[in-house]
Amino acid sequence: METTASTGWTALVRFASTVPKSVGVFSDLDGTLSRIVANPDEARPVEGAVSAINALAKSSGRTAIVSGRPVSFLGRFFGGPVELSGLYGIEHQRGDGLSIHPEAVGWLPVIEAVNNDAVERFGAAVAENKGYSLTVHYREVEQDTADEIMAWSERVSEEHGLHARSAKKSVELHPPISRNKGDAIADMLEGLSAAVYFGDDFGDRSGFERVLAAHGSGRLDVVATVLVNGAETPPELASVATDTVGSPGDVVALLNELSKACDEAP
Ligand SMILES: [Mg+2]
Repeated sequence: METTASTGWTALVRFASTVPKSVGVFSDLDGTLSRIVANPDEARPVEGAVSAINALAKSSGRTAIVSGRPVSFLGRFFGGPVELSGLYGIEHQRGDGLSIHPEAVGWLPVIEAVNNDAVERFGAAVAENKGYSLTVHYREVEQDTADEIMAWSERVSEEHGLHARSAKKSVELHPPISRNKGDAIADMLEGLSAAVYFGDDFGDRSGFERVLAAHGSGRLDVVATVLVNGAETPPELASVATDTVGSPGDVVALLNELSKACDEAP
């Protein structure tokens, strides 16, 4: 996309070196700060990611992890001044306070029932119950089973009124609440003049788009959208990225560069 002096990574770093407390730093976790792994429970931020995020949480205006994972998982690695937006913004943790989007509360038993059905049909290894949503993974199964999982997810979504979303080698079943990463980020822009979002997957598109839209409307002066272009990254995301890097390690390098710029501010 065409960039101007107020979009893109270089512009963001320059801005941070003058008014760091006006910069918001938002990042996805899986595939962005951590490598994609076969067993999602074994995902870990890459070396240096936690310390870089912690440093930015102190020196920038606001720093948050925005993920499809539950806050309980994100909290294994991040906390304190780092805000956690889980399950695409259904959960939000700031300091000690955890809030749940009001429309989500009644859906816990439905997700539980659908999870039990998935475990019975496909085994415990493929089903990941996140409380307010369910992810069914087909990375490690034969194509026949993957096809069955996709057909099943369509059927149960219709039956229970859930929304099915495709992700990397998985399908996610969500309560029919119109809430995405873009909404979660929009709720955190108060008081900021600049923002960056890092992401790598379908679910990050709304985050990229919302940050760009906030610039387009004049709400934010400077923005960057950084795409981590992994092996499974949808190519169409390039159209909403101001910058592209190759790996979570590259993201850590950018975070450190931004952190240094914030620390150099007068
Ligand atoms: Mg991701």
